[in-house]
Amino acid sequence: MNEFEFIQRLREQTSTRQSSTRIVSGIGDDAAVFHQSPDRDLVISTDLLVEGIDFHRDATPPQLLGHKALAVSLSDIAAMGARPLLSLVSIGLPKSAWSSNFKNEFFAGYLALADQFGVTLTGGDVSESQLIVIDSIVVGEVRAGRAVLRSTAQPGDQIFATGSLGGAAAGLKLIELGARVSEPPASAGGQNSPQQADGRRQDILVPGAVASDTGLTSDDAAIQSLLLRQLAPQPRVGWGIVLGEERLATSMIDISDGLSSDLHHLCTESKLGAMIDAGKLPLDENVRHLCGRRALDPLALALHGGEDFELLFTVSPGNISRLPKRVDSVNISYIGEITEPTDVVRIREKGHEWDLTAEGFQHFNR
Ligand code: ADP
Ligand code: MG
Repeated sequence: MNEFEFIQRLREQTSTRQSSTRIVSGIGDDAAVFHQSPDRDLVISTDLLVEGIDFHRDATPPQLLGHKALAVSLSDIAAMGARPLLSLVSIGLPKSAWSSNFKNEFFAGYLALADQFGVTLTGGDVSESQLIVIDSIVVGEVRAGRAVLRSTAQPGDQIFATGSLGGAAAGLKLIELGARVSEPPASAGGQNSPQQADGRRQDILVPGAVASDTGLTSDDAAIQSLLLRQLAPQPRVGWGIVLGEERLATSMIDISDGLSSDLHHLCTESKLGAMIDAGKLPLDENVRHLCGRRALDPLALALHGGEDFELLFTVSPGNISRLPKRVDSVNISYIGEITEPTDVVRIREKGHEWDLTAEGFQHFNR
């Protein structure tokens, strides 16, 4: 039994039990939704990060781990079209991490991202454990009835994705090949480089990479960006709020497992299918730049690679003209259309057409 089959069983078990009429949506979406007051609903989501499974300790600076722990839950709140309000975070740490600077750096990264979106850390728990384990909870709000579900796409809706795809999966491959974030040469801090707690910038050092006198080579800069896509994802909070508040999205999910898997989740919940146009997928520029020469297929990374934390959403044809071009400097791309047959996701590229199977990440897939 894989992760999704288990969740489906839990969902069936909960659906037959007594439940409050205040619950709008439970298991099966990016976050649960419930009525708070006549004009306001709350959404709540939790995400677990486990050392060795969800991140590699030796490749993940604590500050970036703190950032990512909050980012993944903010992404789920954004996927509901909601505005984040408050958070809780529980951490299990081995003695070695407790007695080092780990916890301070972790919370420096966590709180910096919380400040960026006006989110208040309101609670959590601390325990000793064998491995680092982080449970990240975020609560957000929407006007009553405005939460954007996975289950409400309509035939003929156009499908869009924010930002770019494939970068985070390429970043993970680079980490597995030995690439690491490291202290930069003084002049090499790029615009995307996160600040450290002490205000210095972090950059990327790859074993064997040769930096020129003027700073990073273009390959180094591309590698740096890809590692940051994996280690410090930027949740699309602004887009989520606009798509929810303006009633632009008919359905939405965030891309955490990979486009192919997450589009299948959306289609299954909406009892519809989709047709994707491969030529329209917003492939990450750095993936294009590096992968062509390294026998990695950028299209496969964009389709099946996880953790880009972009938003995948549908818009009815009559509302396309109301979509903003960009929010917080992030673009969107049209990538396909919702179709009638349930659960059939097709993809076409240069005259060829085939079934797009869900090949994204899942736990216990064995
Ligand atoms: P996401 O990637 O958006 O965080 P997941 O794939 O982790 O979503 O989970 C899918 C759905 O299953 C969500 O609604 C989530 O809340 C629910 N879910 C996952 N694990 C559990 C669990 N242990 N108990 C109850 N619900 C769960
Ligand atoms: Mg999600």
